[in-house]
Amino acid sequence: MIEKNNQKNINSSEILGRILFPGAEIQKKVIELGNRITLDYKGKELLIVCILRGAVIFLTDLIKHIDLPLSIDFMSISSYGFNMHGSGLVKITKDLDENIEGRHVLIVEDIIDTGLTLSYMIRNLKAREPASIEICTLIDRAVRRITDLKIKYYAFKLEEKYVVGYGLDYKQKYRNLESIYELRTDTIKKDIETLKSTLNK
Ligand code: 5GP
Repeated sequence: MIEKNNQKNINSSEILGRILFPGAEIQKKVIELGNRITLDYKGKELLIVCILRGAVIFLTDLIKHIDLPLSIDFMSISSYGFNMHGSGLVKITKDLDENIEGRHVLIVEDIIDTGLTLSYMIRNLKAREPASIEICTLIDRAVRRITDLKIKYYAFKLEEKYVVGYGLDYKQKYRNLESIYELRTDTIKKDIETLKSTLNK
């Protein structure tokens, strides 16, 4: 994967701030999580449900460190509203191909912010009667949580910062960075100003 300093083709200096979680640190956490999951689910089969698209890179690294029989499936969800974090209205745009009834489901997510997306998803998946359902997220931003979610596995906690890299995007870009970066605040401010002027037109 590509690091900021090596980028020749990604014009990022105006977008990316400092590195919050370096690639090597992420890999260490991913191994720890994989080992924990292996122990916790010993003797069981896992069905890993990855939320598209941000969690894909985390998923592919994580499953290499889970020493269990497992399957993977994908779900895509869209949320509507004004802000970069999404909002209260959630819709499934790609459903699972697998039947989850009686299976041990582990949801793999990139970042949990308000928790609205995941709460909706958990409610929806629980109705399909899995044997168990747990959450594994790369980043847990609990400060903005407005729902009651039990997060069993997380790699990092984060405060009020918008981040990109290692699967996380800004306008669908920067997912291919090895580390996780803070988005520069002037970029966010510029976006808000543009949005405000569009709304006033
Ligand atoms: P929630 O429903 O928990 O408020 O929103 C979770 C979703 O919002 C994440 O799956 C992700 O797509 C998006 N999101 C929230 N915070 C960030 C962030 O800091 N960076 C990026 N790239 N996406 C974020």
